[in-house]
Amino acid sequence: NAASGYPITTATARHLERPLFGHVIDGEVVASLDGATMDVIDPATGAPVAVAAAGSAADADRAVRSARAAFDDGRWRFLAPLEKERRLRRLSSLLAERGDEFAELDVIDAGLLRMYTGFIVQFAIDGIDYYSGWPSKLNGSIPPVAHDLAVYQTREPIGVVGLISPWNGPTAVFAMAVAAISAGNSVVLKPAEQTPMTAVLMAELAIEAGIPPGVFNVLQGAGEVVGAELVTHPGVDAISFTGSVATGSAIQAAAAPQVKRVSLELGGKSPFIIFPDADLETAAQTAMAGVWGASGQVCTCGTRVLVHESIHDKVVDMVVGASRDMRIGSGFDPESQMGPLVSAEQLERVQGYVSIGREEGAELALGGGRFGDTGFFHEPTVFTSVRNDMRIAQEEIFGPVMAILPFASEEEAYAIANDTRYGLAAGVWTNDLSRAHRASRALRAGTVWVNTYQMVYPTVPYGGVKQSGHGRTLGAASLDDLTQIKSVWMRVGE
Ligand code: NAD
Repeated sequence: NAASGYPITTATARHLERPLFGHVIDGEVVASLDGATMDVIDPATGAPVAVAAAGSAADADRAVRSARAAFDDGRWRFLAPLEKERRLRRLSSLLAERGDEFAELDVIDAGLLRMYTGFIVQFAIDGIDYYSGWPSKLNGSIPPVAHDLAVYQTREPIGVVGLISPWNGPTAVFAMAVAAISAGNSVVLKPAEQTPMTAVLMAELAIEAGIPPGVFNVLQGAGEVVGAELVTHPGVDAISFTGSVATGSAIQAAAAPQVKRVSLELGGKSPFIIFPDADLETAAQTAMAGVWGASGQVCTCGTRVLVHESIHDKVVDMVVGASRDMRIGSGFDPESQMGPLVSAEQLERVQGYVSIGREEGAELALGGGRFGDTGFFHEPTVFTSVRNDMRIAQEEIFGPVMAILPFASEEEAYAIANDTRYGLAAGVWTNDLSRAHRASRALRAGTVWVNTYQMVYPTVPYGGVKQSGHGRTLGAASLDDLTQIKSVWMRVGE
């Protein structure tokens, strides 16, 4: 689109002309009560491209009241289940029709590759399709009790769910929001302050699909301000948080006095284990795709690549050789293989970890520097001679930095893999069936992928163990976090 300077559809260009990406409260797009705003920065150029509302505690209160009223008067949860399903299916169709707008805005907002944001939109569509079938299937049950009594158990929505999300796949959160809504809850979504744009479109589509105003609200602003207010607001019944361990831990503590239900999807430092009998070419290609994709800004990135010593040098050569000439550039350039990091802070953070890795004595086999001097690009970076007790092996960098560690035996591989505070995901590459099963048992992670990596599908529960969090999104399991069981007892005897 010539007017905007981006290769985007006219519809997306029109969104960029909006004077404000505001909050969406009770079905209306509104500015902050005090008029405060924040710039939306394009990470590929570092330049501001739009303006979003920067909320205060008073805006959070407005959003929560809107969600509360919608829940309490039953305008959504008391609708017949099949009517809820029809409207949610309409939402999915609308997103499919308008998917380009979401995918293009996510490129501008988060710096992600256009192909990748297309996947994210499809993930959201799949998620909505999956959860749109649930309202008519949230059955209760009848537990056996003494003969003169009867008990039935129902699944009820929790109420108002505060959804606090990160910036690395802004449209993906649509699937989580619809999971909560399908169970009858009202939602206040707080997008990351780096990526405020598509949340506004989502809330507008929800209204268009017939989800009543107040059921899906959007609250823009800084985490420490509006996010923190959601966590402690007595009108919010549950928090579903995706982000860093530090913030997740602070949220759990802040929610504790109100005994508020919290589910946490936190970070990772996932092991990607390559055994000598694996298809090395595919394993190496997948390892690269896993860390360079989204510039390493995916929580399940396999950033600790554990390679058996007999194939270590070969795998290092494959990875370094194939990554050296990667094309780095704007997410809109179809030739780009890696886009920018999301922000100047994130670039600085990644650079800081590269220095730490060097100081710790790891060997820099590739990259290590900022790429170019415009935007927030970073070279694909590979460290070898990494020990698992180094900070670059223990701490989540959230950038294109791969640490390659050798191991001598299967037992040692699992010991290194598990020697981390995280437990989000793990990958295993082997053609030995028994070893694949042994690995799946031995690895302490919420997800284990064998001869594949980073697969997600709405039917499959997703989440972490240890400090990668608790609770599950996706699958039927996430509805356990989004509903509560009520038991009703009746005396039926004399
Ligand atoms: P972050 O924790 O800094 O922020 C996440 C969200 O929390 C943002 O919306 C932010 O505004 C908000 N927030 C910040 N402080 C808050 C507070 N005191 N109270 C309430 N909300 C607050 O994380 P980030 O840097 O945006 O995202 C990167 C992190 O997210 C990484 O650690 C990554 O692994 C993790 N992540 C995890 C998953 C997963 O599914 N497990 C998915 C994506 C990202």
